[in-house]
Amino acid sequence: MSTQMLSARRGVATDEMRQVARDEDVTLEWLLPKMASGSIIIPSNNVRPQKIHNVGIGKGLKTKVNVNIGTSTLNVDLPGEIEKARVAVKYHADTIMDLSDGGDVGEIRRTLLEAAAPITFGTVPIYEAYNHGISVHKNPLNLTEDDYLNAFENNVKDGVDYTTVHCGITKDIAKRILQVRRHGGVVSKGGTITAAWMLKHDKENPYLTHYDYMIEIAKKYDVTFSLGDALRPGSILDSHDELQVQEMINISRLAKRAHEQGVQVMIEGPGHVPLNEVAANVRLAKSLIGDVPYYVLGPLVTDVASGHDHIASAIGAAVSASEGVDLLCYLTPSEHLALPNAEEVKAGLIAYRIAAHAGDLVKIREKAIKWDAAMTEARRTLDWERQLALSIDPEEAARIHGRTGQHPGNNVPCTMCGGACVYMMLPQQKIYTPADAISVEPDMAV
Ligand code: SF4
Repeated sequence: MSTQMLSARRGVATDEMRQVARDEDVTLEWLLPKMASGSIIIPSNNVRPQKIHNVGIGKGLKTKVNVNIGTSTLNVDLPGEIEKARVAVKYHADTIMDLSDGGDVGEIRRTLLEAAAPITFGTVPIYEAYNHGISVHKNPLNLTEDDYLNAFENNVKDGVDYTTVHCGITKDIAKRILQVRRHGGVVSKGGTITAAWMLKHDKENPYLTHYDYMIEIAKKYDVTFSLGDALRPGSILDSHDELQVQEMINISRLAKRAHEQGVQVMIEGPGHVPLNEVAANVRLAKSLIGDVPYYVLGPLVTDVASGHDHIASAIGAAVSASEGVDLLCYLTPSEHLALPNAEEVKAGLIAYRIAAHAGDLVKIREKAIKWDAAMTEARRTLDWERQLALSIDPEEAARIHGRTGQHPGNNVPCTMCGGACVYMMLPQQKIYTPADAISVEPDMAV
């Protein structure tokens, strides 16, 4: 029984490690020690049915972006979810999480895994437990401890590469929730279900009680734990309160227990955080969790951007990435309002790929800057084909560039400045006049 982490500790490079080394332009000699210590992970379930494009997540690598898809109890549309998965893959998501909790969640998961998502795939097993609680027990709070564990095992055995497990929230913290009286309450669905279950049954969190058993299962399938932040703030007013920080301390201890057994771990973070606390959040987390990969949702830097939460959170995401966050979980324009459609999935993903790259320009500048340098040269030389191709969203760039009947070809300005195009007016370049725009042919525009 081996895992990526245990292989790295033995000095044995796997196919996944070789692929990540190629993609990231690093050597295996550089990569393996970091995987052995847990500062870099490659989520990769060993029973995943098909070959996928794995990614490395962690210190010194490019910031990765996750796209959440999945049904809710009020909207079950499997073809729609497949379409979202395809959009996510087309626009270069690094990982997909299926958060389905409505319909036949097992069937939905397997369909998405096999048909639509040949990339790293994550789930939140407690959503399956919740679904089971409603359909079988008529109340999710009537779940048994076995139901919690079965949901985890079902996800693992289907081949998911990583699972969010909310094992940092304890019965004591759940009781404290009632006293702290947060402004925004508890906004993690998994955290809320678990807290309510613990308070109803006066029992400890099943995912904490049986954590060692789950480590055994995760080790057998080489599934990565994404230790969930059940108590992430859901309001700017609650950022960094005692509940959030207490859970983070618990999670840091649980990460060490998984590492002792060779199970890969990443740790989840907020949420809603004011801009002046985003960098502090990453530094606090890293001081507690060390170099364990940190995976944050945004964070949103204001609560009032409904309809545009992908922008409000991409601002926080860029800062958090620049400070050392390793995986960004996107938000879409429909956050807080509705289940996203495919178009909103694309909008959120593009916003987050921008945020990730902006962070990388700080975090791994020497590598990341090559993309910007190529674009700068394409702009300066009015090489439109290359400019469009280098854009983070070439389709959208081409649509906008072409919508006002731009003169085709290179070495001509766009309608933004027209005759005042700075690239045409420099002494060593042709002085452009509006008449030229009509007469010049693409192959003459040199
Ligand atoms: S016209 Fe203005 S915006 Fe367009 S390429 Fe020239 S300088 Fe850039």
